Amino acid sequence: MPCWINFPHRSSPTIRVDFDRNDDQKSLSEWYRRPLRPHCDCKNDALQPLRLQIRRRVSNQAETYWLAAMPCQGGLHQRGCRFYSTSSFNPEGPGETTEAIREVQDGEHIITDIALDVRLGINPLGEHHNTGGRTRTRRGRPVRRQIRLRGLLRRLWIAAGLNKWSEKESNRRYSRIASDRLKEAMSDVICNGKPLAEIGIVLRHGLGFEAAQAQSLVDACQAAQSRALIISVLTAAPTQRLRRQDWNLSLEGADDASLYPVISDDCLGKWRDRFKTEAALLDSREGSVFFIGTARLNRWSPPNLLTVNTQDLPPSRYYADIEEYALMATSGDGSLIPVDSGYELRVAKRLMHDRRVFQKPLAAEDPRPGEIGLPDFRLCDTNGPQPMVMEVFGRSLADRVYQVRKRQKIAHNDERFGPDGWWQWDAAMGGDMPDFPPRT
Ligand SMILES: [Zn+2]
Repeated sequence: MPCWINFPHRSSPTIRVDFDRNDDQKSLSEWYRRPLRPHCDCKNDALQPLRLQIRRRVSNQAETYWLAAMPCQGGLHQRGCRFYSTSSFNPEGPGETTEAIREVQDGEHIITDIALDVRLGINPLGEHHNTGGRTRTRRGRPVRRQIRLRGLLRRLWIAAGLNKWSEKESNRRYSRIASDRLKEAMSDVICNGKPLAEIGIVLRHGLGFEAAQAQSLVDACQAAQSRALIISVLTAAPTQRLRRQDWNLSLEGADDASLYPVISDDCLGKWRDRFKTEAALLDSREGSVFFIGTARLNRWSPPNLLTVNTQDLPPSRYYADIEEYALMATSGDGSLIPVDSGYELRVAKRLMHDRRVFQKPLAAEDPRPGEIGLPDFRLCDTNGPQPMVMEVFGRSLADRVYQVRKRQKIAHNDERFGPDGWWQWDAAMGGDMPDFPPRT
């Protein structure tokens, strides 16, 4: 059965590689970071070539790379193609689950199927049957819960292991390595039926191959009839465009890729009210504020004046019309621990300074009314049988809802761990940060 893997090149013709040669580790490791995705030729009649992903496993310093079908696309390949697999899972199917996040078997892999509360699919006819929550519209079916973009970002953070800290992580959190870990976390995730490996991108400085990134993403999203999912770092407050009703977003690495993220007044909304901690961090230039957003991508080509030689034309530019977004404050490059307040940032920094082992618990779904929710941190290197709960109380007495939650949390922790069995800092009361419990 003839099966060729195509490795597209931006400047030179596509390289067609024979079936047996493509597990060559050296070339796969080079291709791993390139934005242009290889595709499989097994179906000549396919309207769009079937994109593949290059996967990586790191163990004991050894890295192994291999080619794989996109999640849930094994069944689209020709029988006999090495990427063909049968999978009973159909991401477009109704399903009976009400969970927002579920694990499903897809060929040899377990993939995470997530219902997001934002729209990803683009219907070419402009009709609107592909809403995020498919089950919502079907009468008599259970309503599936959905997570928000911020929940998705948290989920990816956990999958990438970025919410845990120990001293040996110190040199493993700079943009390139952290981006690879996020990319790997996305490779087994589908959201509203769309594989994140196909429509998702992590934009940072210095990842390489910037010029091809936007083009590749535009092509992939067009093929998947999807909006793009962009993860990046917001480097400055949005700025209003001259004489226009929309705003520029400064996303790290976007310029390098000739990608211009813009957002309308309506979609931006009152971002300083929605993301108070993040706005404060941007203003004080502390930490890093991560961005996650959905975007419609548009190619802008320079007007083709009098058929000049196409090689003389300036390159295309791309606009990303951001529709939905969320921000997440972190302790900054090198550590990337998510924080919910400036006080939490101080605690995280001191924990790292003291070389402690800890984690930041992250929930994909917000706690429901009456639920205690997760602790702010867990300290993992104390004497106790389990990690020690740490709470930072930071909001003023005027915030009634918060005060009720705070009292519930204190009562819950006192009862469960004993008054000395957990750590707390009532930062809003103006006190100094208490010492941390001793290390074993
Ligand atoms: Zn194939």
